[in-house]
Amino acid sequence: MNKTINVTRSSMPAFEEYCAEIRELWDSRWLTNQGVKHQALEAALRDYLGCEHLALHTNGHLALENLLEAFGLHQGEILTTPFTFASTTHAIIRSGCTPVFCDVEPETLTLDPRELERRLTKNTVAVLPVHVYGKLCDVDAIAEFGRRHSLPVLYDAAHAFGVSRDGVSSARFGDAAMFSFHATKVFHSIEGGLAVCRDADTLQRLNDLKNFGIHGPEEVPYVGGNAKMNEFAAAMGLCNLRHLDGEIEKRRRVTERYRTRLEGVPGLRLLPEQPGVRANYAYFPVLFEGYKYDRDQVFALLAAEGINARKYFYPLTNSFACFRGRPGFDPADTPVAAGAAERVLTLPLYADLSLEDVDRICDVILR
Ligand SMILES: *Cc1c(COP(=O)(O)O)cnc(C)c1O
Repeated sequence: MNKTINVTRSSMPAFEEYCAEIRELWDSRWLTNQGVKHQALEAALRDYLGCEHLALHTNGHLALENLLEAFGLHQGEILTTPFTFASTTHAIIRSGCTPVFCDVEPETLTLDPRELERRLTKNTVAVLPVHVYGKLCDVDAIAEFGRRHSLPVLYDAAHAFGVSRDGVSSARFGDAAMFSFHATKVFHSIEGGLAVCRDADTLQRLNDLKNFGIHGPEEVPYVGGNAKMNEFAAAMGLCNLRHLDGEIEKRRRVTERYRTRLEGVPGLRLLPEQPGVRANYAYFPVLFEGYKYDRDQVFALLAAEGINARKYFYPLTNSFACFRGRPGFDPADTPVAAGAAERVLTLPLYADLSLEDVDRICDVILR
């Protein structure tokens, strides 16, 4: 039996580099609550993303929940996509708002902006699109819609760290953005997340919300939870950020090999690169559309060879069991997304995946 290939494998700095980064924590004994590593990582991220206002969080999901809270979104409808990870939809529900599902564009599988006008009602309060697989949404059309209707646009940019368009970072699109620094993401701090906003007041609210709503020692203006990033996570982030560009370059080479092997094969559809966009090569989705095997068969054939691909995203969030019977939760309302969910497989992709392993994976698919 060949060795197992997992769909992802976390990037890590050298052991010694991480140890050097955490050494001073043994002297200071300051392990969380905006310590030196937390401050240093926020400063480095301001620089990397070209954004002034940002707040580290325990994870991406809580950053998204706090963004919804900081924007005062407690009720009403939020225009969003079902072709995403559970987190996006669950954050909307947990805020008290109602997700209204828009279909996606076939080329990028991101929210189709033409759907926004169609699904707009007098109860719409915000737009929450997702840069799926690190593909940028049609940010110009979505911004225009937001302006026209005075609706805030909050991006789930969990997949899009390191992506930029014409030199402008993905963090700068929309009124706010959330990044996930989970271990499986291109850039990570083991667990972690980031909320990016555009003004000091919103940032202050986010910083209060992630610390129980406490603003000062004797002042608690908000009902907040706990979503603070600890110093060990921040130290991992600092180390990984130093190597990020190199890791993205390695991912690019892996992706190029996949493209060389699979592009143009009848029945396989790859998502096109986006012009002017510096990609982060976060995922490698393939859609099986009229191929000799369907998606589930390819998934099983790969699994039999010890290769773990992922049905990502399947099922759509609007077909989750926890929402059964809710009005508006029907994959038939979003047919492009429903079709993609049935046909897509993301293939193993990580910086250290060897080109020989890519060939082994492609050989199974093409066999
Ligand atoms: C990973 C992910 C999240 C959640 O981020 P966590 O850091 O795991 O909480 C949200 N949305 C999308 C699209 C994701 O992939």
